[in-house]
Amino acid sequence: MKRTKDYYRGCMIGGAVGDALGCPVEFMSFNEIKQKYGDDGITDLVIGANGKAKITDDTQMSIFTADGLLRADTRFCSKGLCSASNIVYNSYLRWLYTIGEVEKEKVQGLLDGWLMEVKELYAVRSPGITCLSALKSGKKGTIEKPINNSKGCGGVMRAAPVGLFCTKESAFRLGCDIAALTHGHPSGYLAAGVLAHIITLIVDGLEIEEAVLDALEVMSDYNGHEECSLKIQEALELVKSDISPQEAVKKLGEGWVGDEAIAISLYCALKSKDDFKNALKMAVNHDGDSDSTGAITGNILGAYLGIGGIPNRWVENVELSDVLIRLADDLLTGFQETEEWRARYPG
Ligand SMILES: [Mg+2]
Repeated sequence: MKRTKDYYRGCMIGGAVGDALGCPVEFMSFNEIKQKYGDDGITDLVIGANGKAKITDDTQMSIFTADGLLRADTRFCSKGLCSASNIVYNSYLRWLYTIGEVEKEKVQGLLDGWLMEVKELYAVRSPGITCLSALKSGKKGTIEKPINNSKGCGGVMRAAPVGLFCTKESAFRLGCDIAALTHGHPSGYLAAGVLAHIITLIVDGLEIEEAVLDALEVMSDYNGHEECSLKIQEALELVKSDISPQEAVKKLGEGWVGDEAIAISLYCALKSKDDFKNALKMAVNHDGDSDSTGAITGNILGAYLGIGGIPNRWVENVELSDVLIRLADDLLTGFQETEEWRARYPG
């Protein structure tokens, strides 16, 4: 059983570390990465002017996913019924505000809670176009009424906190519902369900591979699962093969879409499950969406190995680490009947 601070923090910080490692190379081909960082590619965090390694929209949105889930917990414990995905939606509007994409008047009643006071969150870090346009449309997507046909990885890259918050009975569906707010194609939201489900099972103490097989089983009941299922099965086959990691990742795609992002991340996590740093190097050094595959791989292996499995220097040097640790600890305890909690996560 890994439902302890070590593993919750590992999951949240691991994601941010992977995001930050991939951030400088997100829009570079592998050849360009090698030209700039040498034949092994990028292997260490790039420290910015503020002394920290920059995270991107993946970590920002994961932070607001966690915020929404914790507010939903407040609401549920105070009033009984609530829709967690509707409450997470409001948290995404808060994110939109922090990056200057929505006027204050439109979100006036929503700007409470402690994250609004975190100055480092007010930073534009290549936000995904699908998330922006969906959230600015004023409509909430659902699985039944898709908001668009996007299968971008913007749904899955923010879903890990759902796995920490939920039990295995609810993680998959809630992961999908929250991703479907902005991503309407099954491969966009099912990938998020898979990540949430796997994280839940990992902190329940399962091996990563057992968790993946269980997620495939759950996903097989959903319409349109074939593309995502096949991609993940391909990743499992590649883990068993002796194809080089570089070639394997290339075969799986570039990770801009949900099914490829989760498959590449699972491949890297399984191929190097005892070595966080090595897995992360595989996850970011390729032609595609390096920060997102880095973030998802970091979430998975961080939950599996715990914060002690992540190089200390990376934990200390990643932006927003104090915020991520606070959220991890709050996801672990859930709602607390205190003034402080209600001020942090108003329901
Ligand atoms: Mg990003």
